Amino acid sequence: MLNDDQLLRYSRQLMVEEFDLAGQEALAGARVLVVGCGGLANPAALYLAGAGVGELVLADDDAVELSNLHRQVAFRGKDVGQSKAEALKAQLQALNSDVSVQAHTVRVDADWLDREVASATVVLDCTDNFATRQSINQACVTHRTPLVSGAAIRMDGQLAVFDLRQPDSACYACVYGDGTDGDLACSQAGIVGPVVGIVGTLQALAAMQVLLGNPMPATLRLFDGRTLSWREMRFHKDPACPVCSRR
Ligand SMILES: [Zn+2]
Repeated sequence: MLNDDQLLRYSRQLMVEEFDLAGQEALAGARVLVVGCGGLANPAALYLAGAGVGELVLADDDAVELSNLHRQVAFRGKDVGQSKAEALKAQLQALNSDVSVQAHTVRVDADWLDREVASATVVLDCTDNFATRQSINQACVTHRTPLVSGAAIRMDGQLAVFDLRQPDSACYACVYGDGTDGDLACSQAGIVGPVVGIVGTLQALAAMQVLLGNPMPATLRLFDGRTLSWREMRFHKDPACPVCSRR
């Protein structure tokens, strides 16, 4: 049950037909795991905390750097040198004390992910390296936990939702393969702030849709920041996928 303050706080989204009280309660009952606390996670976690998600679990082993601040909009100059997970947690709690936030300053590995994904309602992949993305995907496939994957580099963004609650859902490896090379980090290639912001914002919206029980199409969305345009590519479960087709 929502108290009077909560009814007021969430009133504008409660007015939306697709949302309503049941949707608000679904958000309040959710535990969302956000892996990576950089440019994707900053807007994603701010919107999810603002919307009233019950529990947010944040993980990142990095500290805030001066070169992050042009895109990592939850951080302030005073946060430079602090743990990203802790600095993001502080901002989320300042925004909405209804939300329980756990910050983990850790480099996530397969065991950690297996434990945390097991208790998550939905997972946001906000990382920037391929090996971690594969480990997150493996844990989400194992636990059949929906995965909202985002990526951005230079002027390009990508978004895909893998609703692994569905037995015929594709997984990240069905679309991207299972290799471990091809990493291109923002620290080497560069990134424009609003591009990563758009993708992170859509990760929050996709996670909310998943929590509301709305089906998400199996579509890889590619954003081109030069032309502000999107391309969409349908994807399918790969019957030979080494991750999801052996279970
Ligand atoms: Zn797969």
